[in-house]
Order: sequence, then structure tokens, then C-alpha cells
Amino acid sequence: MDLNSPRGTADIYGKDLKYRNFIEDTAKKLFKNFNYAEIKTPTFEHTEVFNRGIGESTDIVQKEMYTFKDKKGRSLTLRPEGTASVVRAIIEHKLYSKRLPLKVFYNGNMFRYERPQKGRMREFHQLGAEAVGIDNPVIDAEIIWLTNRLFEELGFKNLELLINSIGCVECRPNFLKEFKSYLEPRLDKLCSDCKIRYYKNPLRIFDCKKTKCKEVVKNGPKIFNYLCDNCRKHIDSVIDYLKKLNIKYEINYNLVRGFDYYTKTIFEVISKQIKSAQNALGGGGRYDNLISQFGGPDMPAIGFAIGVDRTAILMEQLKIKPKCFNGFKKVYLIAMEEKSYPFILEISKVLRKDFICEINFKPKNLGSELKWAEKNDFGFAVIIGEEEASEKKITIKDIEEYKQYEFDWLTQKDKLIDLLKGK
Ligand SMILES: [Zn+2]
Ligand SMILES: [Zn+2]
Repeated sequence: MDLNSPRGTADIYGKDLKYRNFIEDTAKKLFKNFNYAEIKTPTFEHTEVFNRGIGESTDIVQKEMYTFKDKKGRSLTLRPEGTASVVRAIIEHKLYSKRLPLKVFYNGNMFRYERPQKGRMREFHQLGAEAVGIDNPVIDAEIIWLTNRLFEELGFKNLELLINSIGCVECRPNFLKEFKSYLEPRLDKLCSDCKIRYYKNPLRIFDCKKTKCKEVVKNGPKIFNYLCDNCRKHIDSVIDYLKKLNIKYEINYNLVRGFDYYTKTIFEVISKQIKSAQNALGGGGRYDNLISQFGGPDMPAIGFAIGVDRTAILMEQLKIKPKCFNGFKKVYLIAMEEKSYPFILEISKVLRKDFICEINFKPKNLGSELKWAEKNDFGFAVIIGEEEASEKKITIKDIEEYKQYEFDWLTQKDKLIDLLKGK
């Protein structure tokens, strides 16, 4: 038996899992603040959901989907992203028939058949939110604000928001006509994929990561300059609201993002702490036609998603410590000898009501115990030797502050708890 997990998948535990849990918990808290309700959709869908939802000519549908036939011969696909499934669920259950906007968030594993590398696995985790039924630019600003807030709360610094409008069904064809006539004499400068994109879906050429294609696109026409009055007014209002919210933004005329379903506003949050070109933390956009394309009502929508794994790796690289690592009071109870255990149990019975406690089950040298506690994110160590045990005294070390305190257990229990609570 091969005991390795399949290529592109990973077991997640220990510190890696702590980072991920912190990201998910922080997001869930924020979603509640912004009044988004959770939705869980199946891990696989009928293949058509993604073909139609994401777009036949996208890289995801063309190359990256895990599609298989079940025993009855139905074509099913493991979800490669979250929005298409959520939209399918909204239509199936007519969730749009209540007060609008409908605001939902999701959090789950997704699958894409790609060449695995650090931060890009075949099974990965994404969380995101969708707001359906309102085309007021206020909600664009709200969802951008939410994305930005999430990375602030996680501890990222120097955040910047890239924003663009990619127009609507009215104005995009005019741009594409201009874009194609600009590309026509330059076709030989494009990579083979982009040559196909030129005929099938020229907007996707903006996604190409090849330098020669980027070079061609850079000097070409920009969709922003071809927006109809309605799209122009919309993006101007979004920008006004972002200014009101004090969110630093930059209009990036080459931003398109990899999905066919986007219309009007699209955005990406980047951190200037990250020096590589791949500094996008998360992003999203408006998709005003997707729901009707699926056979639902004609209803605007906007959403965003972030990669949980990538965010966790970046936090580790940038040495951003989840707040819970510091602020959460984990207490290590160190018995110096066998006789200490009855008192240790008495203390832990009280402390475990409010704090995470661990006991050393084998008395060892104090130095190595403290080192272990520090390495494993314990904020405090309670040290109980023979004398402490018989006199019911507690010596406690604040591991981060390098301070030491003594308490009498019988008379100063509350004082000790206040110290652990940071009062
Ligand atoms: Zn337009
Ligand atoms: Zn290309």
C-alpha cells in the first residue's frame, strides 16, 4: 500500500492547522458582523454547473477539473471554486425570493488538477461570500471593505486594493472589437494558448502569465475607456464609497480575473509586504448575468473568495502570528516531582474552566520543560515543586514577558485567574 497522500493533497495538522483555523474563525466572525449567513453546498456537482458557470473557454474548465462518471454514467465534477455551486443552490431553493440582498458565505475544500507547488495544491481550501439581488454600488463597496477588513484582522500590513471595471454586455463588445483589431497584426507575438483565446475568448488573454503576452496586452486598448454610461457611473460611485471608507485603492486597467462570469466591478487585495509578483491575497467581482445564465431570474450579484492555504503560508512567511497564539492563555502545569501531581490536578480542575491547560506527565528538568512550553505557544507555566505542593503555593512564569509571580492558592486564586485573563 502506498502510504503517501495522493499527489497535490496534504494532511494538515499542528501549526499549519492552527493558522487555517485562525483564518476561518476570523472570517466567520467578520461575516457575522456584516450579516452574511453560512451555506454549505456539495463537494461535487453535475459537470454542467461548472461548464456553464465558470465558462467553457476558461483554463479551469479546459484543463483543471476533476471530472468523472459515477456508476450510473452521470458526469460529475469536484468543485473547482465556490460561486457556481452557491448560485446553483440559490436558484434550486429560490433563496432569492426573500428580502434582498441575499448574503451568504461558504468555506470548504475545492479541487483543481494543476501541477502542485507550495500554495497551489490539487485539493485546496477557499472561503468566500456572495451578495445577490442588489446592483447598488454600496454593496460593491461593502464586499470590498469586507475583503480588506479580513486581511487587516488577520494581521497583514500595507494592504492595497486593485480595482477595475470590465463592463457589461452592452459595452464589452465594443471593447472586444477594438482589442481584436489591435491584436490581429500582433498575433504571432502571442503564445499558442492566447492564439486560441483570440478566437474563442480574447478577454482571457489578460490572464496569461507569459511575459510576451503581457507585453502585447500592456500597450493595447483598455476596457475602462470603453465603459457605457451606466458602467462608468457604477464604478465612479464604488470609488467614491471606498474613499469614504478610507480604503486605499488603485485602478488597474489590466485586471480581469480568471472567470468569464464577471461584469462591471472586479477587485483584488494585495499586500506590499509580499515582494513577489504573486502578491494577490484575494479578490472578487460582480456577476450580474450569471444567475440568469443558469436559468434563474435576471438578478445582479457580487462576491469574493480567498485561498485559505495560500493565506496561511503567507502568514507564516511574513511571520504574522495569529492573535490567538499570543492572546489566548494556554497554561503549562509543571510537576517537578511525583508528589506535585495531587496539587496539580486540584489547580487544573479550576483553571480548565477558562483556560487550555496541559500537564507534564513525566517530571523532567525545568529548563527543558519551559523551552517546550515556549515552543508550543504556552503563555504561562505554573511550577509546582515539593515545597509548593505542601504549602499550596504557586509559582507562575509569564513566558512571553519573562516575569514571575507567586500566589497563595487558598487565598489568592482570583488574583491568579485575573493575571491569566490579562486583567
Ligand atoms: Zn456597460
Ligand atoms: Zn499567452
